[in-house]
Parts: sequence; C-alpha cells; structure tokens
Amino acid sequence: MSNTKTKGFRKYNKNNVVSVTMTMLFLGIFIAVFLVLFVMFFFRYVVASGIISEYGSVLYMGQVYDAAEGDLDKAYNALDAEGRSYFIRDEDGKILHEKGKNTCASEGEYVTVYSYDDQVYMYADTDVDFIRPEKGSITFDYKGFVTWARFSNKINRIEHKEQDSFDLPVWVKAGLSDGNELIGQVHFHLENNDIIFFVVFCVCVGALTCIAFVLLLIHMFRSVYRKHKLTDIFYMDDVTDGRNWMWFTIKGEQILKKKKNASINYAILDLVFVKYRNYCVVHSVSEGEQMLRRVENFVNTNLYVGEMIAHYASANFAVMMRYTNETELYDRIDRIMAGLEHLDKNHKFSFHVGVDLLGITKDQHGRAVPRRYINIEREYNNACAARATLEENDDSARATFDSAMVEEQKWIDTVRENQQSALDNEEFLVYYQPKYDPQTNELKGAEALIRWQSPVYGFKGPGAFIPIFEKNGFITEIDHYMLRHVAMDQKRWLEQGYSCVPVSVNISRAHFIEDDLAEQIRDAVDAIGTPHELIELELTESAFFDDKNALVTTIKRLKSYGFTVSMDDFGSGYSSLNSLKDIPLDVLKLDAEFFRGDADDKRREIIVAEAIKLAKCLNMRTVAEGVEVKEQVDFLADQGCDMIQGYYFAKPLPGNEYEDRIRQEK
Ligand code: C2E
Ligand code: CA
Ligand code: CA
Repeated sequence: MSNTKTKGFRKYNKNNVVSVTMTMLFLGIFIAVFLVLFVMFFFRYVVASGIISEYGSVLYMGQVYDAAEGDLDKAYNALDAEGRSYFIRDEDGKILHEKGKNTCASEGEYVTVYSYDDQVYMYADTDVDFIRPEKGSITFDYKGFVTWARFSNKINRIEHKEQDSFDLPVWVKAGLSDGNELIGQVHFHLENNDIIFFVVFCVCVGALTCIAFVLLLIHMFRSVYRKHKLTDIFYMDDVTDGRNWMWFTIKGEQILKKKKNASINYAILDLVFVKYRNYCVVHSVSEGEQMLRRVENFVNTNLYVGEMIAHYASANFAVMMRYTNETELYDRIDRIMAGLEHLDKNHKFSFHVGVDLLGITKDQHGRAVPRRYINIEREYNNACAARATLEENDDSARATFDSAMVEEQKWIDTVRENQQSALDNEEFLVYYQPKYDPQTNELKGAEALIRWQSPVYGFKGPGAFIPIFEKNGFITEIDHYMLRHVAMDQKRWLEQGYSCVPVSVNISRAHFIEDDLAEQIRDAVDAIGTPHELIELELTESAFFDDKNALVTTIKRLKSYGFTVSMDDFGSGYSSLNSLKDIPLDVLKLDAEFFRGDADDKRREIIVAEAIKLAKCLNMRTVAEGVEVKEQVDFLADQGCDMIQGYYFAKPLPGNEYEDRIRQEK
C-alpha cells in the first residue's frame, strides 16, 4: 500500500479526534462565557434602566431646590413632600437637612449608567447593600440576590403574603446651584415575578446548554464508534479478512516507537507461501485464498501478545515477532514453518521466510534508545530482500537480512533496469582470450568473454552481471549478442585476410530449453555469413544435468551444421564422466580449479593426465583453462594437452589487441 495513503489515513484519523475534542472544548467554553456575560449584562441593563428613571426624579428635586432661590423652608417643604429619603449637605460634608433614614454609604463612585450621557455619582445603601457603585460601573452582590430569591420564595411569601416585590435602594447625588449637594435614595424594584422569570430564564438557558452538550457528546460518541467501524473495514484485508498491510505499518510503528519497547528485540518477517500460484492453478483461486486464510490463522495462533501478522500481497505475509535471543527466535520460526508445511494432510507445502532483526540500540550509558525514526516499510523490504535470496530454493527455507544484501539488491536492480539500454547502446564489449598450442606456442583458438563498459557504472567484469542475467533470463539475449558480434568480427578479419582461428562463445544453460537452439545459432551465423568452422560453442558442465536427451539432440544438430561444441569447466561440479560416453563433444575444457594452488600437487597431476588420456580415447581435444605458470605449461605439453587458455599466454584482450595478435600470426 502506498505511503501517501497511509500518511493520509493517519492524518485523517488524528484530525478527526482532535477536531471533535477541540469543538467540544471550544463550545463548552463559549457557552459558559456567554451565559455568565449574558446574565451579567442583562441584569445590569435591567437594573440600570430602572435606576435611570429614579435618577430623573432626584435631578428634579435639585431643580425644585434651585427654583426656591434660597428660601430653604419652602424648598425643604416641597422636597419633603416628594416622599423620598434624601439629605442635603454642604461642601464640607455637614448635613444641612435630611428626610427619612440616612443609610447612604460614606464612599461613592462615578458610575456610567446606560443611556445616560453623564456619569452618575452613586453610593451604596448600608442597609440593603446589593447595588454597589464600583470601578465606574454598577456591580451586584449576587450572593445577596440568591438569599433574597430564597427569601421571596419561601419565608417572605408565608409571612408577608401581600409583599410581591423587593426594593433595592442606592443613593445618587445631584449638584445644587449654591454649591451644596442633594443626595437622594433611588429604588430599583424587583418584582417576585421578575425574579421567577429570571430564574426560569437562567434554568432554561442552562438546560438548553446541557441538552446541546449532551447532543454533542452523543454525536461525538457516535462518530468515534463509526470511526472505529470504518477503521476496522479500512484495516481489513480483502483476501484473508484479517488485518491488512496498512494496519501492520501503523500499528507496528506505534508498538516499535514506544519508549517501553525500546529494550525489546523485534524481528520483521516476510513469510511467503512458495508456489502459491501453482496451487491456485491446480485447485482454484478461492481454494488458494482459503489456504492463505489458514496460513494466517495458523501463524496467528502461534504468536504471543505484542506480535502480529498481516497479509501483504499475493502470497506474502508481514509478521512482527519479539525475541530474547536469535536462537530462540529461529527455533520458533522453524516450528511455525514446520507446522505450515503440513497444514493440509494431503500436501506438503513450502514456505520461505526473510528475517530482519531490529535488535536494541543502546546509548553511551547503556540505556536502550527508543526507535523514534523506525520505518516498518523499509524493515519489511529488508526482510523481503533476505527472502528473495531463497527464490531458487523449492523447499522451505529462511534467510536473515544483512546490510551487504542491500548493496547487492541495489546492484541487481540497477543491472536489471539498465540491461536493455546497455545492449541497445552496444555497451557490452567482446574480449578475446587466446588459446595456444603448448608444443608449438602457436595461436589455435580463442574464447569470447563479455565485459560491460558502462558510461555510468564504469568497467565491469562478467562476474558482476552474468549471474544476474542468468537469474532474470536476460542471459539468452546476451548469448545471441555475443554470438552475433563474434561472427561479425570473424567475418571482418577473414575478409581482411588475417589467419582466423575458431572462437568459442559461451552458451548459457538457460538456453537449452529452446528446442530450436541449434537452428537459431545456425541462422544467426548465416545471416552474417561467417563460416561455421570459425565458431565454437561452449556449454557449461552443469547443463549436462538437465534434460540430457534434449541436450544430445541439440549438440548433434550443431555438429551436423559444422560447429564445434565443447564442454566448459570440466571437473568443476559433480563428475560428469558418465555424460561423456553419450554426448558427442569435440572439446573438453579442464576447469581452472585444477591449476590453482600448489603447482606440484601429485594427485591433481594424475587426475589431469588421466582426463587428457580419457578425452583422447573419446576423440576429444583438450583445453586447459587458468594456466598461469611455466611448470604447468610444460606438464600439460608432456601430457599431450592440445591447447592452453591462461594468463601464462594471454589475458582476455580487447578486440583490437586480439586483432593485432592474429595479424602478427600471419
Ligand atoms: P569461463 O567461461 O570459465 O571463462 C574463463 C574465465 O577464466 C574468464 O573469466 C577468464 O578471464 C578467466 N581466466 C582465464 N585464464 C585465467 C588465468 O590464467 N588465471 C585466472 N585467474 N583467470 C583466468 P571472466 O572473463 O571473468 O569470465 C568469467 C565467467 O563469466 C566465464 O567463465 C563465463 O562463465 C562467464 N562469461 C563470460 N563471458 C560470457 C558470455 O559472453 N556469455 C556467457 N553466457 N557467460 C560468460
Ligand atoms: Ca567458457
Ligand atoms: Ca571455463
């Protein structure tokens, strides 16, 4: 599954939870603040507008006082008749006249009252200290309010049934024209009904808020539940109904990144049901998938807490296991594989397992370092790389990843990606290694050996890419390429009058499954027009273990077309002495292994001598490969070896250097 998809899902997942939580928090705070502000402002607005009209009356009393123009008796009579508690004081604060009970607080404050331009100088009432001028605005003693509310609902109603309102006084000041001050008591009436209305209102708003909250909570739970359901579907594998790869990466990384798991060894496995496709062909796809489910279930029952398995793709499973030591881990894996092999009593299956060991990293104090930057996809790829090394193997097997594998795998991929363009651009060069007659020192033949001159990767010997081509099948293209180039070179040299000798071309084992190989070779050489006797074909010894009948047929046909056929690397693998009696070969190439190491190893000399004799008896010529020293040349000459191909005479040479040699031979 793609990395972007995984990342997107993670992001969505995270955002969903975060957004719901944030919304809840935000709404909660918003509603609470709104309620408090609303109650405060609404109440203050109601009280302030009540006081305003009363304040007008006090101002009017000031006008009455001023209108009396110093006739204080007249003024006081008129003011007393208003029926309001008030007092008049001079600039020093001395009370000049008062009416009613003076419960005015000593300290006042300028207060901004709504819809009134001027600020009103206001004092609290010491008897009913509810409305207070404070910091330029009106505040309320809410605790007192609650007491009154109780009072009004219970006690008051029983004792004074006729009283259905409250009087909340506050004192305001009106300036007088003679410099004195008139301070009058103003009343804000709070009806019982108002209180009830207000309480009911607050309860309603509170209840609505609660309902909204509950609804939101339900929504949140439902969305979390739905998300869980959705997640389950999202993480379900289509084939096995178990967990899928995305779940493995997300869950696996969560586990691996945990601080407490830093001191636990983990291994990531790539488990493959070998020949799954064959099983599907022989049975059916649905039976194949049924098998995959059984594989997953079997592994699952053998896993411990904190371990997991998921279907990756095709017949691959990703597994995460914990271990204390490697032996114990491998024992467990082997037991699981043994169990899987006999999952069905009618079959014996094979499984390949690639293991990537995560191990524990420690800091300089010996503490385990959390795997903060672990990338499970990369680790699984490592396990896959290890598993890929088993591909040749039909039986159950397991391999463990090491870092050299990464480089190797990278190179394999590079070669595969570049092989076709390298062929098209003629980056593959033909080198010629001459073969000499040890008796006469005459040039008798050569072997064509490939080199890769890559503009990007430099000059590469066949060891770096031929085994890769043999595995990926590109080797057949290479064999044709080499054959064509050798045929072209030989034709050109012949036309230039050089003394051409037969050149052998390596034909890989993979080629022999083609029925018409002999005809393909004949036609390719004929298309160029090179005489067949100038081309020799080398077959590696190991090819003789495949279908021998087909091989014999191909060799006979090649010979009938006039090509020479040789057996390469004789003596390198299991002895193919037996094959010699049935296969009509022209040349036996003694493997270089015979001439490596101690030069006078008597036992080896006996074998070489006997091999040469045997070849002679069977009418075969012999070529000794890898000969580097004079003693060996002399020995081989004594034994009647026909040709020597080795560094003693020449290394593989570029085309132009080889051309110089055949020109000189002339
Ligand atoms: P091979 O067919 O057995 O080729 C002989 C190898 O032995 C060559 O290595 C050659 O350079 C080396 N050799 C010859 N004399 C000496 C010596 O005195 N001392 C030492 N140390 N080595 C010597 P090279 O060219 O690296 O080729 C290696 C293998 O790659 C070949 O083994 C052959 O199996 C494969 N190969 C090379 N070219 C081709 C090709 O065109 N097609 C195919 N199918 N395989 C090729
Ligand atoms: Ca060869
Ligand atoms: Ca060889």
